[in-house]
Parts: sequence; C-alpha cells; structure tokens
Amino acid sequence: MVFPPLREELRGLEPYGAPQLDVPVQLNVNENPYGPSPACVADIAEAVSRAAATLNRYPDREFVELRAGLAAYLTRDTVAAGFGIEPAQVWAANGSNEVMLQLLQAFGGPGRTAVSFAPTYSMYPEYARDTSTRWVQGHRAEDFSIDLDAARELVRAERPSVVLLPSPNNPTGTALPPAAITLLCEAVGDHGVVVVDEAYGEFRRSGTPSALELLPVHRNLVVTRTMSKAFAGAGLRLGYLAADPAICDAIRVVRLPYHLSAVTQATALAALRHTDELLGQVDALRAERDRTVVWLREQGLEVADTDANFALFGRFADRRAVWQGLLDRGVLIREVGPDGWLRVSIGTPEEMTAFREALVEVRRES
Ligand SMILES: *Cc1c(COP(=O)(O)O)cnc(C)c1O
Repeated sequence: MVFPPLREELRGLEPYGAPQLDVPVQLNVNENPYGPSPACVADIAEAVSRAAATLNRYPDREFVELRAGLAAYLTRDTVAAGFGIEPAQVWAANGSNEVMLQLLQAFGGPGRTAVSFAPTYSMYPEYARDTSTRWVQGHRAEDFSIDLDAARELVRAERPSVVLLPSPNNPTGTALPPAAITLLCEAVGDHGVVVVDEAYGEFRRSGTPSALELLPVHRNLVVTRTMSKAFAGAGLRLGYLAADPAICDAIRVVRLPYHLSAVTQATALAALRHTDELLGQVDALRAERDRTVVWLREQGLEVADTDANFALFGRFADRRAVWQGLLDRGVLIREVGPDGWLRVSIGTPEEMTAFREALVEVRRES
C-alpha cells in the first residue's frame, strides 16, 4: 500500500501554482500593480480592529451586509440596462476559485459532466477532478474564439451540468460576444448552469458588455467576479457571483459553515467603500495593455486580441528560454497556454519598460 492513501487519480500530481519568486518586476499572475492608498489601508485596519473585538463569536454565516455591498457594486454594470442586482442574487467565498469549486460541488459530481473550451484557465479541470465530475474539453479556433455551431453540438452531445466560460478568457484575453452566451445558455437549458467567469470583467474594452446584462433573460446563467484582479485585492481572497436566487440557495447546501471569516467580511466591506479609488488605475492599465499589444506586434510577434490585464504573445520555438532570459533580467512572466506562447500581466509604466527592454535583449541574444 502506498502511503499516504491518496485517491488513485491524485497520485503523483503536482499542486497548481505559478512560481512565487522574489524578483523586481512581477508580471506573472495578473495582479493589479497598484496597492491601496494610506486612507484605504487605515479604513481597513479600523474595520478589522472592530471585527477583532468580536472574534470569540462566529461571523454572519449569510454575510448579509457584504452581499448588499457587492450587489450595489454589480448594479453599476446593469443600471444602464434598466435593472439592479439584488443581494439575494449574490454569493461570495474565499476567492472566485472557491465560488467555482462550490458550483461544481452543487451542480457537478459523479455521473455529471463539466465542459469548457481550451485553451482556457487550467484550474477548471481541477475543480472537475476534485468533485469527481466528468471533464470534457471543447476547443477554440485559431484566433481563440469559440465556434458556436461546434459548441452547440458539443453541449447537445455531452449534456453538461456545468459549462465554464471565462470572458475575458485566461490565458488568451478573448471576450465572448453576448450572442455566444445566449446560445450556450439555451443549448444547456435546465440541465445545467453556464458559468461566465468575469475575473477580468472590469478590464474589458469599451463596447464589450458584461454577461450580467443577460441575467434577467437566462435563469441558468451564473456570472462570477473577483476582488483579486481589477479591484486590487488579490491578498483579500474574495470572489463572488450573481445568479438566480435559487442557484445561491443551492450553493448554501454545500458551503462550509461560516466559510467567510469576520476579518474577510470586514476587509471586503472596507475595500468596497473605496471602490472608486481601488479601480482608479483600471483605465490606465487598459491603455497600457493596448500600448503593449501594439508594441509587441511592432516587434513582429503574434499577440492575441485582449480584453484583460494581460497579453498572450509568441510564438517562440523555445518559450522556456525566453521566459528564463527575462527572469535572468529580473522580469517574471508566465509560461502558460499553447506551446510557443507566453503571457505577460500589465504592470506600471516602469515595469512595462523593464519588460520591453528585457525582451529586446533576450531576442537579440537568441
Ligand atoms: C485570477 C482568476 C480568477 C480569480 O481567482 P480568485 O480565486 O478570485 O483569486 C478566476 N478565474 C480566472 C480565469 C482567473 O484568471
């Protein structure tokens, strides 16, 4: 007998995770490079200190105040379409990764199927594996868009109970047109839920609508968001979703009791009070992204069109050598996606200058 007595399908597997290396320019995990202001830090500290005085008690299991705050924030994206998001439509957990795992726990499981379209976020098959959900991988076209006829066929053939669709997609940055979401929600029907993962939603180019606008039309649609990326709160671990209240109620069956600590709730609420400040650099990051894409193309490289705060570029005969060359010059990016491609997160102008200079040197030497 092998010790420890791990599930057969987990033996020999490595845990997911990008290298965490202490280098000057960190452009590998799509964080917002701008930290909170002293005023925001002080407000968080004050809120956490109040929560600390109550730590002998369990926190609000239903996180009512936080749901209201998140609903008000999401309503910014739906008010023009003439409706608001209600607190009963919101669910939250420790990062949207946990939200999506809970979705698989509630709607996946043995005998059920989850579908996504590769290349996409590499955690999705892991949620399926961890919940013993069958995993079926569709594919994307050469330009990383989804062929809608093929997608509908796949859904008809496999009858998934969960479809995972990031928009913008990671690692390619590709946003989904609303027509694609509608088509997939209709193809899936009441057999399953369609999860549109908008982790990078706030970075989308103007004119690209949020899937939130489709919530009144499709009761099987779930839109997930996170405070980790645009909201500059990766260390906070707070992800959330908006969906039909019946979907939120279903997740409550599988969540662990008191899964959101009093400290997390207090921190998230304080951060939400500083929404405008924390999102204040998003426009600058989008502009920097567009400049980075233009520059990379001027260098003769291929770059996927991107609505996110990163760019996928290539192709390199030996991408590992390019990644290592950049790292040797203090610039950490991500070796991810189809062979030959690399992904760079958008940092400050200074960080992007360091990236460009390092990349020019690495390519000159190879
Ligand atoms: C970063 C990311 C998330 C967010 O994860 P958190 O657990 O909220 O930090 C979700 N989906 C995708 C595709 C991501 O790249």
